[in-house]
Amino acid sequence: MKKGQKFAVIIIGPPGAGKGTQAELLAEKINLYYFETARVLEKSWTNAKKSDYIEIDDGEKFYLLDEKKLFDKGIICSPPFVSFIVKKKIKELAEQNKNIILAGSPRTLHEGKQLMPFLIDLYGVENILVLELKISNKQAIWRNTRRKLCSKCRYPVPFTKETQKLKECPKCSGKLVTRTLDKEEVIKVRLKQYTGRTYPLFKYFKEIGVIVKEINGEQSIEDVFKDILKAIER
Ligand code: ADP
Ligand code: ZN
Repeated sequence: MKKGQKFAVIIIGPPGAGKGTQAELLAEKINLYYFETARVLEKSWTNAKKSDYIEIDDGEKFYLLDEKKLFDKGIICSPPFVSFIVKKKIKELAEQNKNIILAGSPRTLHEGKQLMPFLIDLYGVENILVLELKISNKQAIWRNTRRKLCSKCRYPVPFTKETQKLKECPKCSGKLVTRTLDKEEVIKVRLKQYTGRTYPLFKYFKEIGVIVKEINGEQSIEDVFKDILKAIER
């Protein structure tokens, strides 16, 4: 990425790869805005009624509670709905000249084809870096079934001997919860969605000339972070 220009980092990997954990670290270390798609989606349907929908540019309607249902089952939300929400937010951030890090977008070829040309326009292709965070399915299931998240600040608590029995968030004392999304059956659905629907994006990135770097996600959080910093500072 060119020095002095605003840039966008995209972290892609299966559920549990450590996208959120690393994005959080990166946002703290360098001046980056962490854009977490899942959070924005969840916010869109909090307090939504059955009749609430979002109408996108071509007039198509997406009912918020239908999207929530997909999400809770581990199925990727409707791509046009996600693209619409994500693009709107990214435009705001780019206009404020923010460097951004995306975790959780794009997740489908459809979203990628909507989002990437838009991002390239805003940031320039040479200022976009995709990090592929790789872990095995076994590791993904292990991590997700043990994952606890703060219900208040969403901090994903790393699973260690020390944190195993924690009930409260070490950052804000909020209550720690396990999401229904992190049940083994749901994770298996999400892993299938990843290989079937997200993985094809890498071929597309190649076609449009976006740089992708592989990161071994099966190291300690600190070592993964070191590799990510190296990849960014090339
Ligand atoms: P993602 O956003 O890719 O789904 P998270 O960052 O939420 O993944 O991490 C999933 C779970 O795995 C969390 O409980 C997190 O603390 C833990 N985790 C993340 N990175 C590592 C790592 N390198 N080693 C062990 N556990 C990790
Ligand atoms: Zn918290």
